Amino acid sequence: MKLTAIIPCFNEEAALHFFYAEMSKTMQQMQDVDFELLFIDDGSKDGTLQEIKKLAAADARVKYVSFSRNFGKEAAIYAGLEHSDGDLTAIMDADLQDPPSLLPQMYRAIVEEGYDSVATRRVNRKGEPPIRSFFARRFYRLMNRISKADIVDGARDYRLMNRAFVEALLEMGEYNRFSKGLFGWVGFQTKWLEFENIERVAGETKWSFWKLFLYSIDGIVAFSTMPLSIAAFFGVLMCGVSAIAIVFVVIRQLLYGGSAFGWPSMVCIIIFLGGIQLLCIGILGSYLAKTYLEVKKRPIYICKERNAAKKQEKET
Ligand code: UDP
Ligand code: MG
Repeated sequence: MKLTAIIPCFNEEAALHFFYAEMSKTMQQMQDVDFELLFIDDGSKDGTLQEIKKLAAADARVKYVSFSRNFGKEAAIYAGLEHSDGDLTAIMDADLQDPPSLLPQMYRAIVEEGYDSVATRRVNRKGEPPIRSFFARRFYRLMNRISKADIVDGARDYRLMNRAFVEALLEMGEYNRFSKGLFGWVGFQTKWLEFENIERVAGETKWSFWKLFLYSIDGIVAFSTMPLSIAAFFGVLMCGVSAIAIVFVVIRQLLYGGSAFGWPSMVCIIIFLGGIQLLCIGILGSYLAKTYLEVKKRPIYICKERNAAKKQEKET
């Protein structure tokens, strides 16, 4: 049985040899599995590609795809899935935050217990800034409330999947990719394993708070149309409020007459409504922008060099 491990790498020069050493131990343990390590160099600016090539020269199981620039982890995952032809495919980080030692257990869950995929979640967020954890939790709560893709709090992208699962993911060639949602969306039987958060072995995280914030907006826009309904709801609410106000003004005019005061309150109302209108246009705009990007059908990544072939290339 062949297992392809996809490893997205962006400036991971320092972590790679730790990863390879640790992974080698696991590969040794799993003698009956035919491994392939598929490194995706996501336009790294340091010596990551050279480091990968060194590994590839010494070990025929090492394959790589190198991008022309940084396209992001989601694009790297997609490229990995396209170039994977294993019966099983794993996705794991290069910084050892996704421990290879879980692989045998994940493998058994698919081969012996009959699951289609095995996913992992960390049970705590030790070593992470508290403010980041707080917003991450809020995000998962919100996401599960407003979308169909059920996204587990603390879920990592670390996963082992069978062929059918990978094919299903590849069917979704959308540009705005939010893997955590896609994994849940495709369905199948997934087993969840839990582990304690591990800090990265070397190098530093590629995600700033701002990047994570934008990513969470991507996730919401990709998996929920709830914000659009909220915009419509505001519209209906405001119509209702204005109807009541009109009745009130008319009755007051009939009872007391000549009531030409109330400029400050008028200004407040105008500003308030203007704000709500802009908010709703903004919501609409963010969906339109995503639609625009999808319609252009630009490639998800551009490959500069590689020693791996896509599955269909190997078949023809
Ligand atoms: N990564 C990538 N492209 C990017 C950012 C990150 O391929 O634009 C890779 C990175 O090399 C690592 C994984 O995605 O293997 C997770 O990134 P990181 O460890 O920085 O994220 P964190 O674990 O802090 O969430
Ligand atoms: Mg990490």
